[in-house]
Amino acid sequence: MDIVKKRILITGGAGFLGSHLCDRLINDGHDVLCVDNYFTGSKDNIAAHLSNPQFEALRHDVCFPLSVEVDEIYNLACPASPIHYQFDPVQTTKTSVLGAINMLGLAKRTQAKIFQASTSEIYGEPLVHPQTEDYRGNVSTIGPRACYDEGKRCAETLFFDYHRQHELKIKVARIFNTYGPRMHPNDGRVVSNFIMQALKGEAITLFGDGSQTRAFCYVDDLIEGFVRLMATEDAITGPINLGNPVEMTVAELAEKIVDLTGSSSKIAYRPLPVDDPTQRCPDITVARETLGWEPKVPLTLGLQRTIDYFDRLMSESEDRDATIVRLQA
Ligand code: NAD
Ligand code: UDP
Repeated sequence: MDIVKKRILITGGAGFLGSHLCDRLINDGHDVLCVDNYFTGSKDNIAAHLSNPQFEALRHDVCFPLSVEVDEIYNLACPASPIHYQFDPVQTTKTSVLGAINMLGLAKRTQAKIFQASTSEIYGEPLVHPQTEDYRGNVSTIGPRACYDEGKRCAETLFFDYHRQHELKIKVARIFNTYGPRMHPNDGRVVSNFIMQALKGEAITLFGDGSQTRAFCYVDDLIEGFVRLMATEDAITGPINLGNPVEMTVAELAEKIVDLTGSSSKIAYRPLPVDDPTQRCPDITVARETLGWEPKVPLTLGLQRTIDYFDRLMSESEDRDATIVRLQA
């Protein structure tokens, strides 16, 4: 099948999900412009493309307007892990809200189709389980997660107002916990924390009693969902849940990672962070019916690939440290 080559902007393109999306869209034959301020992203994530004429990287903060000519925009810029988005909460809300306004303005001028990386945090501490798209959520406006949750909720509002008021073509995905290679090793998210701790033989930090649930989607599955949603007819706007509906407790995840790594790490219980949701699992009926999409990569395989990635990362950094010690001697 012939692919129509498009000019595609990815904000947050040097981050975990953004860099996988760059890989996918370049592989599909498109021209990709990656815009990032490198707050949590890294040039290492996009290094493979820097000399590719299909690819351009631009250091830019989405809180400021951007003028480029593009056919499609994926708006992913925003720190996603609690420790990163709570580091400078005002900047987090600005990134979501001003970033949405600036990217929607760009889409309006260029007539580009625009995708928003929204989140399951829209549902807060959910009273409906599993979460369906019509559930309106139970979110604190004043807690430590609010800068992210409310920023993302306001961004959804802006997307739908631009759609109604200016007839913009919008695609809103509500993403549930996703994991895989290129997660930041120190971003505090549960999968990266547990794997790094298990590989180093350190205690596995289980917050609360570990009975809270999450559902984990492998990154390749998620990116397939993004591309399918972007390709839908204009009448499809979302919001659409994208995630893996296999729910498990965080304690079960810890056990699985200890098993897969063959680690001798023991569990260390830590206090549950404020407003940490008790349960989280997507209902993906809409994605199944609208996109013909569902996750394919089983947890064991996805975790094994992620463990291999972190293992490599650790050996590379040990090699670098050994070289520095040798050079200093
Ligand atoms: P990430 O932190 O790895 O990537 C975010 C990227 O945005 C980084 O490269 C960062 O440097 C960049 N960025 C942050 N603020 C910016 C700004 N003001 N201007 C320009 N660039 C900026 O996180 P991720 O996991 O790749 O998440 C990508 C998107 O998906 C985010 O919008 C996040 O909210 C959403 N999401 C992710 C998950 C998940 O499980 N990974 C779940 C729900 C939603
Ligand atoms: N968690 C944990 N130990 C860690 C990091 C996280 O027990 O070292 C828990 C956290 O409290 C939450 C779940 O794992 O209940 C998922 O946390 P993460 O930050 O990955 O994502 P989110 O809470 O945004 O879904």
